[in-house]
Amino acid sequence: MITRKVRKWEKLPGKNTFCCDGRVMMARQKGVFYLTLFLIIGTCSLFFAFECPYLAVHLSPAIPVFAILLFFFVMAMLLRTSFSDPGVLPRALPEEATFIEMEIEAANGNVPAGQRPPPRIRNVQINNQIVKLKYCYTCKIFRPPRASHCSICDNCVDRFDHHCPWVGNCVGKRNYRYFYLFTLSLSLLTIYIFTFNIVHVVMREFHCLTVLEVLVCFFTLWSVVGLTGFHTYLISLNQTTNEDIKGSWSGKNRVQNPYSHKNIIKNCCEVLCGPIYPSVLDRRGLMQEDSPVSATSAAPSSSSISNPVPQTMKTTAALIPNEHTPEDAKPSVAASAEKSPSPKDGDPPAPKVPPLASPETDVETSIVKDKTH
Ligand SMILES: [Zn+2]
Ligand SMILES: [Zn+2]
Repeated sequence: MITRKVRKWEKLPGKNTFCCDGRVMMARQKGVFYLTLFLIIGTCSLFFAFECPYLAVHLSPAIPVFAILLFFFVMAMLLRTSFSDPGVLPRALPEEATFIEMEIEAANGNVPAGQRPPPRIRNVQINNQIVKLKYCYTCKIFRPPRASHCSICDNCVDRFDHHCPWVGNCVGKRNYRYFYLFTLSLSLLTIYIFTFNIVHVVMREFHCLTVLEVLVCFFTLWSVVGLTGFHTYLISLNQTTNEDIKGSWSGKNRVQNPYSHKNIIKNCCEVLCGPIYPSVLDRRGLMQEDSPVSATSAAPSSSSISNPVPQTMKTTAALIPNEHTPEDAKPSVAASAEKSPSPKDGDPPAPKVPPLASPETDVETSIVKDKTH
Protein backbone atom coordinates (compact mmCIF):
# COMPACT_ATOMS: atom_id res chain seq x y z
CA MET A 1 0.00 0.00 0.00
CA ILE A 2 1.42 3.39 -0.98
CA THR A 3 0.86 6.16 1.53
CA ARG A 4 1.51 9.76 0.61
CA LYS A 5 4.27 11.47 2.54
CA VAL A 6 2.84 14.29 4.64
CA ARG A 7 5.13 17.19 5.33
CA LYS A 8 4.82 19.25 8.49
CA TRP A 9 3.78 22.48 6.73
CA GLU A 10 0.53 20.79 5.70
CA LYS A 11 -0.44 20.42 9.35
CA LEU A 12 0.80 23.73 10.77
CA PRO A 13 -1.97 25.34 12.80
CA GLY A 14 -1.41 29.04 11.93
CA LYS A 15 -3.21 30.96 9.18
CA ASN A 16 -0.41 30.84 6.60
CA THR A 17 -0.28 29.73 3.01
CA PHE A 18 2.53 27.63 1.64
CA CYS A 19 3.81 27.15 -1.89
CA CYS A 20 6.54 25.06 -3.49
CA ASP A 21 6.04 22.18 -1.06
CA GLY A 22 6.52 24.35 2.00
CA ARG A 23 9.53 26.37 0.78
CA VAL A 24 7.48 29.57 0.45
CA MET A 25 5.49 30.80 3.44
CA MET A 26 3.17 33.82 3.50
CA ALA A 27 0.12 35.21 5.26
CA ARG A 28 -3.24 34.13 3.89
CA GLN A 29 -4.34 37.64 2.86
CA LYS A 30 -2.21 38.63 -0.10
CA GLY A 31 -4.31 41.25 -1.93
CA VAL A 32 -2.20 44.21 -0.81
CA PHE A 33 1.00 42.29 -1.63
CA TYR A 34 -0.19 41.94 -5.24
CA LEU A 35 -0.90 45.70 -5.25
CA THR A 36 2.70 46.33 -4.08
CA LEU A 37 4.01 44.15 -6.91
CA PHE A 38 1.74 45.89 -9.43
CA LEU A 39 2.81 49.40 -8.34
CA ILE A 40 6.54 48.64 -8.36
CA ILE A 41 6.60 46.63 -11.59
CA GLY A 42 4.10 48.98 -13.31
CA THR A 43 5.96 52.19 -12.48
CA CYS A 44 9.35 50.73 -13.39
CA SER A 45 8.01 49.32 -16.68
CA LEU A 46 6.68 52.76 -17.67
CA PHE A 47 10.03 54.30 -16.76
CA PHE A 48 12.00 51.72 -18.76
CA ALA A 49 9.64 51.98 -21.75
CA PHE A 50 9.17 55.73 -22.05
CA GLU A 51 11.95 57.69 -20.32
CA CYS A 52 14.96 55.37 -20.32
CA PRO A 53 15.56 55.18 -24.12
CA TYR A 54 15.68 58.97 -24.41
CA LEU A 55 17.73 59.49 -21.23
CA ALA A 56 20.22 56.76 -22.26
CA VAL A 57 20.90 58.46 -25.60
CA HIS A 58 20.86 62.11 -24.49
CA LEU A 59 22.29 61.88 -20.96
CA SER A 60 24.00 58.61 -20.08
CA PRO A 61 23.49 54.87 -20.72
CA ALA A 62 24.27 54.34 -17.03
CA ILE A 63 20.83 55.70 -16.08
CA PRO A 64 18.80 52.64 -17.16
CA VAL A 65 21.56 50.24 -16.03
CA PHE A 66 21.52 51.60 -12.48
CA ALA A 67 17.69 51.62 -12.48
CA ILE A 68 17.59 47.94 -13.52
CA LEU A 69 20.09 46.95 -10.82
CA LEU A 70 18.15 48.86 -8.17
CA PHE A 71 14.86 47.37 -9.40
CA PHE A 72 16.17 43.80 -9.09
CA PHE A 73 17.54 44.53 -5.62
CA VAL A 74 14.15 45.92 -4.50
CA MET A 75 12.32 42.87 -5.87
CA ALA A 76 14.80 40.46 -4.27
CA MET A 77 14.40 42.10 -0.86
CA LEU A 78 10.61 42.21 -1.21
CA LEU A 79 10.32 38.53 -2.12
CA ARG A 80 12.82 37.51 0.56
CA THR A 81 10.69 39.33 3.18
CA SER A 82 7.39 38.02 1.85
CA PHE A 83 8.26 34.39 1.23
CA SER A 84 10.23 33.56 4.36
CA ASP A 85 9.39 32.40 7.86
CA PRO A 86 9.42 35.61 9.92
CA GLY A 87 10.35 33.66 13.06
CA VAL A 88 7.18 31.74 13.92
CA LEU A 89 7.37 29.92 17.25
CA PRO A 90 5.94 26.39 17.34
CA ARG A 91 2.87 25.82 19.46
CA ALA A 92 3.03 23.51 22.46
CA LEU A 93 2.17 19.87 21.86
CA PRO A 94 -0.98 18.73 23.71
CA GLU A 95 1.03 16.98 26.43
CA GLU A 96 3.32 20.00 26.84
CA ALA A 97 0.29 22.28 27.12
CA THR A 98 -1.14 20.04 29.85
CA PHE A 99 2.18 20.12 31.68
CA ILE A 100 2.39 23.93 31.52
CA GLU A 101 -1.25 24.23 32.71
CA MET A 102 -0.39 22.00 35.68
CA GLU A 103 2.65 24.13 36.47
CA ILE A 104 0.59 27.32 36.35
CA GLU A 105 -2.11 25.86 38.59
CA ALA A 106 0.50 24.65 41.05
CA ALA A 107 2.09 28.12 41.13
CA ASN A 108 -1.20 29.96 41.56
CA GLY A 109 -2.59 27.64 44.23
CA ASN A 110 -6.33 27.25 44.72
CA VAL A 111 -8.22 30.26 43.41
CA PRO A 112 -11.58 30.54 45.24
CA ALA A 113 -14.61 30.16 43.02
CA GLY A 114 -15.81 33.48 41.61
CA GLN A 115 -12.38 35.10 41.84
CA ARG A 116 -10.33 35.83 38.78
CA PRO A 117 -7.14 33.81 38.56
CA PRO A 118 -3.96 35.91 38.52
CA PRO A 119 -2.64 36.90 35.09
CA ARG A 120 -0.38 34.35 33.48
CA ILE A 121 2.87 36.25 33.57
CA ARG A 122 6.39 35.26 34.39
CA ASN A 123 9.13 37.72 35.12
CA VAL A 124 12.69 37.14 34.03
CA GLN A 125 15.77 39.24 34.50
CA ILE A 126 17.67 40.22 31.38
CA ASN A 127 20.68 42.49 31.63
CA ASN A 128 19.50 43.83 34.99
CA GLN A 129 16.01 44.59 33.71
CA ILE A 130 12.84 42.76 34.68
CA VAL A 131 11.02 41.57 31.57
CA LYS A 132 7.53 40.03 31.60
CA LEU A 133 6.86 36.83 29.69
CA LYS A 134 3.19 36.58 28.78
CA TYR A 135 1.32 33.35 28.31
CA CYS A 136 -0.21 32.85 24.87
CA TYR A 137 -3.59 31.14 25.24
CA THR A 138 -3.59 30.16 21.56
CA CYS A 139 -0.07 28.72 21.31
CA LYS A 140 -0.07 27.51 24.95
CA ILE A 141 3.43 28.80 25.59
CA PHE A 142 5.03 31.53 27.65
CA ARG A 143 6.28 33.77 24.87
CA PRO A 144 9.99 34.54 24.82
CA PRO A 145 10.85 38.19 25.39
CA ARG A 146 10.06 40.40 22.34
CA ALA A 147 7.72 37.79 20.82
CA SER A 148 4.08 38.59 20.14
CA HIS A 149 1.07 36.80 18.70
CA CYS A 150 0.07 38.01 15.22
CA SER A 151 -3.72 37.92 15.04
CA ILE A 152 -3.68 37.81 11.23
CA CYS A 153 -1.27 34.88 10.88
CA ASP A 154 -2.41 33.35 14.22
CA ASN A 155 1.15 32.56 15.27
CA CYS A 156 3.54 33.78 17.92
CA VAL A 157 6.45 35.44 16.12
CA ASP A 158 9.87 35.95 17.67
CA ARG A 159 11.09 39.58 17.85
CA PHE A 160 7.74 40.52 16.34
CA ASP A 161 7.90 43.90 14.62
CA HIS A 162 4.52 44.19 12.90
CA HIS A 163 2.32 42.44 10.35
CA CYS A 164 2.88 44.17 7.01
CA PRO A 165 0.04 43.67 4.49
CA TRP A 166 2.19 45.37 1.80
CA VAL A 167 4.68 42.51 1.91
CA GLY A 168 1.97 39.96 2.81
CA ASN A 169 3.83 38.60 5.82
CA CYS A 170 4.77 39.25 9.41
CA VAL A 171 8.00 41.14 9.95
CA GLY A 172 10.00 39.50 12.71
CA LYS A 173 13.33 38.15 13.81
CA ARG A 174 14.14 36.29 10.58
CA ASN A 175 13.10 38.81 7.93
CA TYR A 176 13.39 42.23 9.56
CA ARG A 177 16.69 43.19 7.89
CA TYR A 178 15.32 42.29 4.46
CA PHE A 179 12.21 44.33 5.16
CA TYR A 180 14.40 47.30 6.11
CA LEU A 181 16.60 46.88 3.02
CA PHE A 182 13.41 46.69 0.95
CA THR A 183 12.08 50.01 2.29
CA LEU A 184 15.52 51.62 1.98
CA SER A 185 16.10 50.49 -1.62
CA LEU A 186 12.52 51.29 -2.60
CA SER A 187 13.03 54.82 -1.25
CA LEU A 188 16.15 55.17 -3.42
CA LEU A 189 14.39 53.74 -6.48
CA THR A 190 11.42 56.08 -6.01
CA ILE A 191 13.66 59.14 -5.63
CA TYR A 192 15.66 58.00 -8.68
CA ILE A 193 12.65 57.53 -10.95
CA PHE A 194 11.00 60.71 -9.66
CA THR A 195 14.15 62.76 -10.36
CA PHE A 196 14.69 61.42 -13.89
CA ASN A 197 11.01 61.85 -14.73
CA ILE A 198 11.35 65.54 -13.88
CA VAL A 199 14.58 65.71 -15.93
CA HIS A 200 12.77 64.05 -18.83
CA VAL A 201 9.88 66.53 -18.69
CA VAL A 202 12.31 69.46 -18.59
CA MET A 203 14.50 68.15 -21.44
CA ARG A 204 11.86 66.83 -23.75
CA GLU A 205 8.13 67.14 -23.50
CA PHE A 206 5.07 66.69 -21.35
CA HIS A 207 3.74 63.13 -21.46
CA CYS A 208 0.62 61.95 -19.62
CA LEU A 209 2.26 58.63 -18.63
CA THR A 210 5.18 60.55 -17.15
CA VAL A 211 2.67 62.48 -15.04
CA LEU A 212 1.23 59.16 -13.83
CA GLU A 213 4.71 57.97 -12.84
CA VAL A 214 5.47 61.28 -11.12
CA LEU A 215 2.22 61.01 -9.15
CA VAL A 216 2.86 57.40 -8.04
CA CYS A 217 6.46 58.28 -7.11
CA PHE A 218 5.36 61.41 -5.26
CA PHE A 219 2.91 59.56 -2.99
CA THR A 220 5.26 56.60 -2.55
CA LEU A 221 8.05 59.01 -1.58
CA TRP A 222 6.18 60.39 1.42
CA SER A 223 5.12 57.03 2.80
CA VAL A 224 8.18 54.90 2.01
CA VAL A 225 10.83 57.47 2.88
CA GLY A 226 8.95 58.25 6.11
CA LEU A 227 8.76 54.53 6.93
CA THR A 228 12.47 54.05 6.21
CA GLY A 229 13.28 56.98 8.49
CA PHE A 230 11.13 55.52 11.26
CA HIS A 231 12.79 52.09 11.00
CA THR A 232 16.26 53.68 10.92
CA TYR A 233 15.34 55.34 14.22
CA LEU A 234 14.09 52.01 15.64
CA ILE A 235 17.23 50.15 14.51
CA SER A 236 19.47 52.76 16.12
CA LEU A 237 17.70 51.99 19.42
CA ASN A 238 17.48 48.20 18.81
CA GLN A 239 13.72 48.43 19.27
CA THR A 240 10.77 46.93 17.39
CA THR A 241 7.67 48.74 16.10
CA ASN A 242 5.60 46.64 18.52
CA GLU A 243 7.74 47.73 21.47
CA ASP A 244 7.62 51.33 20.30
CA ILE A 245 3.80 51.32 20.06
CA LYS A 246 3.34 49.55 23.39
CA GLY A 247 5.99 51.69 25.07
CA SER A 248 7.65 48.54 26.41
CA TRP A 249 10.91 50.30 27.20
CA SER A 250 9.59 53.77 27.82
CA GLY A 251 9.86 55.47 31.19
CA LYS A 252 6.39 54.55 32.45
CA ASN A 253 7.26 50.87 32.85
CA ARG A 254 10.58 51.73 34.52
CA VAL A 255 12.20 49.07 32.35
CA GLN A 256 14.95 50.12 29.99
CA ASN A 257 15.53 48.25 26.78
CA PRO A 258 17.82 45.40 27.89
CA TYR A 259 18.71 44.68 24.27
CA SER A 260 20.09 48.12 23.43
CA HIS A 261 23.87 48.54 23.45
CA LYS A 262 23.36 52.26 24.14
CA ASN A 263 25.42 52.81 21.01
CA ILE A 264 23.84 53.54 17.63
CA ILE A 265 26.57 51.82 15.58
CA LYS A 266 26.49 48.64 17.69
CA ASN A 267 22.69 48.51 17.55
CA CYS A 268 22.70 48.93 13.76
CA CYS A 269 25.38 46.25 13.38
CA GLU A 270 23.44 43.79 15.48
CA VAL A 271 20.11 44.32 13.72
CA LEU A 272 21.49 44.50 10.17
CA CYS A 273 24.65 42.35 10.28
CA GLY A 274 24.00 39.94 13.16
CA PRO A 275 23.58 36.20 12.58
CA ILE A 276 20.59 34.91 10.61
CA TYR A 277 18.69 32.42 12.71
CA PRO A 278 17.46 29.18 11.17
CA SER A 279 13.72 28.59 11.04
CA VAL A 280 12.35 26.66 14.02
CA LEU A 281 9.48 25.37 11.92
CA ASP A 282 10.65 22.23 10.22
CA ARG A 283 8.24 23.00 7.39
CA ARG A 284 9.57 20.41 4.95
CA GLY A 285 10.15 17.71 7.53
CA LEU A 286 8.05 14.58 7.21
CA MET A 287 5.25 13.96 9.68
CA GLN A 288 5.81 10.88 11.77
CA GLU A 289 2.95 8.37 11.75
CA ASP A 290 0.94 8.67 14.98
CA SER A 291 2.47 12.12 15.74
CA PRO A 292 -0.05 14.72 16.90
CA VAL A 293 -1.39 17.33 14.50
CA SER A 294 0.27 20.26 16.20
CA ALA A 295 3.75 18.74 16.05
CA THR A 296 5.65 21.58 14.52
CA SER A 297 8.95 21.86 16.22
CA ALA A 298 12.17 21.05 14.47
CA ALA A 299 14.38 20.39 17.44
CA PRO A 300 14.90 16.76 18.34
CA SER A 301 14.58 17.53 22.04
CA SER A 302 11.21 19.09 21.34
CA SER A 303 9.53 15.75 21.00
CA SER A 304 9.58 15.63 24.75
CA ILE A 305 9.44 19.31 25.73
CA SER A 306 9.51 21.84 22.93
CA ASN A 307 8.74 24.99 24.83
CA PRO A 308 12.00 26.15 26.32
CA VAL A 309 10.63 28.88 28.53
CA PRO A 310 8.90 26.92 31.28
CA GLN A 311 11.90 24.61 31.44
CA THR A 312 14.15 27.57 31.93
CA MET A 313 11.84 28.96 34.53
CA LYS A 314 12.21 25.84 36.59
CA THR A 315 15.94 25.52 36.41
CA THR A 316 17.35 29.01 36.60
CA ALA A 317 17.50 31.62 39.29
CA ALA A 318 16.59 34.45 36.97
CA LEU A 319 12.87 33.84 37.35
CA ILE A 320 11.32 36.49 39.54
CA PRO A 321 8.35 35.17 41.53
CA ASN A 322 5.05 36.01 39.93
CA GLU A 323 3.74 37.95 42.92
CA HIS A 324 6.48 40.55 42.40
CA THR A 325 5.53 43.09 39.84
CA PRO A 326 8.40 44.78 38.05
CA GLU A 327 7.69 47.86 40.17
CA ASP A 328 8.17 45.81 43.34
CA ALA A 329 11.29 44.20 42.09
CA LYS A 330 12.80 47.27 40.57
CA PRO A 331 14.48 48.92 43.59
CA SER A 332 16.58 45.88 44.45
CA VAL A 333 17.52 45.45 40.82
CA ALA A 334 18.36 49.11 40.50
CA ALA A 335 20.46 48.91 43.65
CA SER A 336 22.41 45.93 42.38
CA ALA A 337 22.83 47.67 39.06
CA GLU A 338 24.32 50.68 40.82
CA LYS A 339 26.81 48.57 42.68
CA SER A 340 27.89 46.60 39.67
CA PRO A 341 28.70 48.10 36.32
CA SER A 342 26.41 47.24 33.45
CA PRO A 343 27.26 44.10 31.51
CA LYS A 344 30.35 44.22 29.38
CA ASP A 345 29.70 46.81 26.73
CA GLY A 346 31.22 44.64 24.05
CA ASP A 347 28.82 41.81 24.73
CA PRO A 348 25.72 41.72 22.62
CA PRO A 349 22.63 41.31 24.79
CA ALA A 350 21.06 39.03 22.20
CA PRO A 351 22.54 35.57 22.08
CA LYS A 352 24.17 34.17 18.98
CA VAL A 353 22.51 30.79 19.24
CA PRO A 354 19.78 28.94 17.41
CA PRO A 355 16.36 30.47 18.08
CA LEU A 356 14.86 27.60 20.00
CA ALA A 357 17.37 28.19 22.71
CA SER A 358 17.18 31.96 22.57
CA PRO A 359 14.80 32.66 25.46
CA GLU A 360 16.67 30.19 27.57
CA THR A 361 20.00 31.69 26.73
CA ASP A 362 18.71 35.21 27.21
CA VAL A 363 17.89 34.31 30.74
CA GLU A 364 21.01 32.33 31.34
CA THR A 365 23.17 35.03 29.83
CA SER A 366 21.75 37.43 32.33
CA ILE A 367 22.45 35.05 35.18
CA VAL A 368 26.02 34.54 34.11
CA LYS A 369 26.51 38.28 33.85
CA ASP A 370 24.89 38.83 37.25
CA LYS A 371 27.23 36.33 38.80
CA THR A 372 30.31 37.74 37.21
CA HIS A 373 29.64 41.26 38.40
ZN1 LIG B 1 0.64 32.72 20.20
ZN1 LIG C 1 1.25 38.21 10.64
